[in-house]
Amino acid sequence: MLLKNFVGGQWRSPQGEGQPLFDPVSGEPLVSVSAEGVDIGGALAYARETGGAGLAALNFAQRGELLGRIADVLTAHRADYFEISRRNAGATEGDASFDVDGAIFTIKTYARLARNLGDGRGFVEGGEIPLAKGGVFAARHFLLPVSGVAVFINAFNFPAWGLWEKAAPALLAGVPVFIKPATPTAWLAQRMVEDVVAAGVLPAGAISILCGSPRDLLDHVTENDVVSFTGSAHTAARLRTHPNVVARSVRFNVEADSVNSAILGPDAGPGSAEFDLMVKEVVREMTVKSGQKCTAIRRVFAPREVARQLAGAVASRLGRVVVGDPADPEVRMGPLVSKAQQQAASEGLALLREDAVVAHGGGQDFAPRAAAPAAGAFVQPTLLYCEQPLSARHVHDVEIFGPVATVLPYDDEAGLVALVRRGRGSLVASVYSGDAAFLQRLVPAIADLHGRVMVVDAAVGSQHTGHGNVMPTCLHGGPGRAGGGEELGGLRALGFYLRRVVVQGPPSHLAALAANKVDAALLGA
Ligand code: NAP
Repeated sequence: MLLKNFVGGQWRSPQGEGQPLFDPVSGEPLVSVSAEGVDIGGALAYARETGGAGLAALNFAQRGELLGRIADVLTAHRADYFEISRRNAGATEGDASFDVDGAIFTIKTYARLARNLGDGRGFVEGGEIPLAKGGVFAARHFLLPVSGVAVFINAFNFPAWGLWEKAAPALLAGVPVFIKPATPTAWLAQRMVEDVVAAGVLPAGAISILCGSPRDLLDHVTENDVVSFTGSAHTAARLRTHPNVVARSVRFNVEADSVNSAILGPDAGPGSAEFDLMVKEVVREMTVKSGQKCTAIRRVFAPREVARQLAGAVASRLGRVVVGDPADPEVRMGPLVSKAQQQAASEGLALLREDAVVAHGGGQDFAPRAAAPAAGAFVQPTLLYCEQPLSARHVHDVEIFGPVATVLPYDDEAGLVALVRRGRGSLVASVYSGDAAFLQRLVPAIADLHGRVMVVDAAVGSQHTGHGNVMPTCLHGGPGRAGGGEELGGLRALGFYLRRVVVQGPPSHLAALAANKVDAALLGA
């Protein structure tokens, strides 16, 4: 079956045979996608004009109500989405929930936040700035939605959450969305859009989806549009320098890959609550979604004197994780999403083994449960141990997008900071320590190279939200190789879809313009 694209307000069958999507357990082809024959310029123009007008007719509260209805539609079809996730991504129930329920939770959060904005249709920032004697001429800053379309180029690992964590703030800001899901898992994104369109929730043109690989997509974006990309740093570098993007100064957000860290404090020896919490979190991060999370822990730092014990504790838990066909109720971890990803993981592992030895896993004699190893894209959870992280060549650079992490011993605090910073910009670091003085020194020393730093001590215990969990009310993104982008952070996310303009003129005109605008201070509230 060739999936249809929803563009120009209609479901359209693409041309050609398309690219097949596979079941990563059996290797069986499922559906196909194609972008061939689609008039992309026309589709974007329709979204800008028709979708933009439809959303502009609504105020924030009304758009928030639409988001609430989208969440209801998706909730009603949740079981179908779990089934597609299992078949097309090898997702366990927990993995599917992470993506699908994460998406629904994020949409509901924006629906709730919209209520704070009432019947406004834009933002006014700060007060009036007098520019002439006698008060006849002044200025005010406004934040107004872009008049174009928000183009989302997404990664394969979060077909549901990746779509809606972007679409919810864009639609709330009043900007129509045009989604290009990653090919290997496009089915789920396409089905979600199909359900939302069928329910008639959104104004015409407010949502479009184009599956397949339209390599000329960025030829058609204009200065009115914004592009939000999630994927590998390599693709990001190519797309953000696309000649049309550069020539038209198209706003371009990048969420890319990252070699995230977990750090055990010098105070947190074996037997401490912090040690146990970190072991649990490392195992969770390595195995949830088979390690295919941009936020997953890749580097595990521990004081040299306890690093081997930490590796042993992680390895012993990893040994209990049943890997295989997620249809089997005993299975806790499924395959990677494709044979290509399995191959990439194997190549990455070969590089890391130049720096480190295998403490658990490695793949030899590994047999997934209820699945034929040759047909599937399975990778055994693998923990490595790198004795000399300072001289390591790959471990701070290579992101294996799978269930692989490396334990790295550190000798002192300065050395730890230097090693963590070799990640050259990450989405998240989590620190497990009850030593307040250590935390006061460490967090600022690494903060500028991270989007998020999570501190866990015994008092926090298991109530933390998770190293890899992205909370819609908190910033998501990271500097450097993580892409330099910013997403979510509650209403802060709307900023990407708004343009700041200062209007100078008679105060009466400024007051009239400000009449239906909301205080921009709420964006950071
Ligand atoms: P990818 O290969 O870089 O592809 C990302 C997206 O770009 C896909 O939709 C791909 O389409 C599209 N694309 C590639 N070339 C294009 C072009 N010329 N024009 C338009 N679109 C183009 O990444 P991936 O393998 O899907 O995702 C895995 C990576 O994403 C990992 O490195 C992970 O760390 C990162 N990631 C980051 C975040 C974050 O929030 N920071 C979240 C999730 C994943 P096709 O699929 O059709 O090729």
